[in-house]
Amino acid sequence: MCANINATNNFVCKNIGDKLCKNCRVIFYCSRECQKMHWKFHKIECKSEIASKDWQPDYVKEKKVPLFVSDDSRSIPFFNPLNKIENLWGKMPEIDIIKIAFNEFEDGKSNFNGPINLLFAASGDLNDIIMSLNGLPLDFDQTVNICVNDYTERIVVRNFMILYLLAKFGKNAIDIVIQIWYSSSLTDIQAIRSLEIFSLILKDSQMMEENLFEFGKLKIHTHFSSKTWMCLAEMLSNRVDLQTGISLRNEIMFNPMRKDYRHRYMQLLTPGERICFDNFRHHGILLPYGALNAHHNVQNRFILDRTNGWVISDNSDPLSRWDIFSVVQIKNGTADEDFYGKLFFYLREQFVMFIDRLQKLSINFDLYDEDALKLDEKLKDKKFDRIYANDLGDESYIGIKSTLIKFRPLLNANNPNATLITLFMNWLPSVPESDRGEIMEGIIQKY
Ligand SMILES: [Zn+2]
Ligand SMILES: [Zn+2]
Repeated sequence: MCANINATNNFVCKNIGDKLCKNCRVIFYCSRECQKMHWKFHKIECKSEIASKDWQPDYVKEKKVPLFVSDDSRSIPFFNPLNKIENLWGKMPEIDIIKIAFNEFEDGKSNFNGPINLLFAASGDLNDIIMSLNGLPLDFDQTVNICVNDYTERIVVRNFMILYLLAKFGKNAIDIVIQIWYSSSLTDIQAIRSLEIFSLILKDSQMMEENLFEFGKLKIHTHFSSKTWMCLAEMLSNRVDLQTGISLRNEIMFNPMRKDYRHRYMQLLTPGERICFDNFRHHGILLPYGALNAHHNVQNRFILDRTNGWVISDNSDPLSRWDIFSVVQIKNGTADEDFYGKLFFYLREQFVMFIDRLQKLSINFDLYDEDALKLDEKLKDKKFDRIYANDLGDESYIGIKSTLIKFRPLLNANNPNATLITLFMNWLPSVPESDRGEIMEGIIQKY
């Protein structure tokens, strides 16, 4: 759309924007007239220092040693002074844990003759689940049973909300889901609707451990302790006004201690990419650059609250959670350098496919909020074709030995392709080099 928008007098040009601003190359207008009309707003960013191709980090201009090379900075690879970091946006790009075409596939057809059982033992984001279902062949018609677990209440609640909204409202829920997941503020309508829906769920569930939500062939079974329901109750009652929300978020996102880290990253970007990066950090709203965002005037209570502030670390970025090579292919009228706009449209596409799967297949979700070490007790009657343990294998979590002890027995012995997947993010620095080979070999042979 044309970016000529004036929030103060509610003017929005409804024409298609196909003429790119030649200076920043990230905003489109329908005509020269519209570009001229909007210039008094756009010039602030278009002519800003970061939009210049000669922009340099402050530590270069000031000839200072940046914080990331001085000794004391090594202890702050990311920043959140309240130390309440929650990986609401996950840690790794999404993976399809089924990859059926490389596994259970014979003569061009899937050879799954019964249900496919998946366990996401420390799920974090839903993006792996979305990609795994979206990766199934279009003619796949077997039941899919998906157990999803995470120990962080806010993640459990958020994942449940997303699944519930998509299951109940289908494509109509896509935009609200994107905003609840990734934006620091919502529109009035999004905020009111989400509050109504989840207040009703809280009331109907009576905070019981077991609840079943049915949507035709799709079932969502929650196994939540009271701590998770309490977390939802607190989110719903905790109203943070927009200004407080902005300052709590800015404390993390623009902390002076982290400026050198930000500038190091921005140095790698083109001027247009820098404008979009800076725009997302300032507004915290995942929309194409130049899109109307003035009506996002209610704090997203599902990410930020008065007690914990903004719980996401300053270097966490939704762009690094999705396959960037696919994201940049998105055309949809966004500028080449507007990666956040591309991500917005990429997510819409993925959600359309995901909703199609939710509506056509028989899917049973079982959502848990257990400690990963105790999860096997809850699941002992179940067997899985894939188990994704995320980075539980890291020594700072439960470690590779416990991951194998706890989850290997849950693999489906009748499926030769049944696989346990775990990732290591910090295993190398946490284990002495001399011990690595021996530890891994010993563990793999034994378990
Ligand atoms: Zn411009
Ligand atoms: Zn226009």
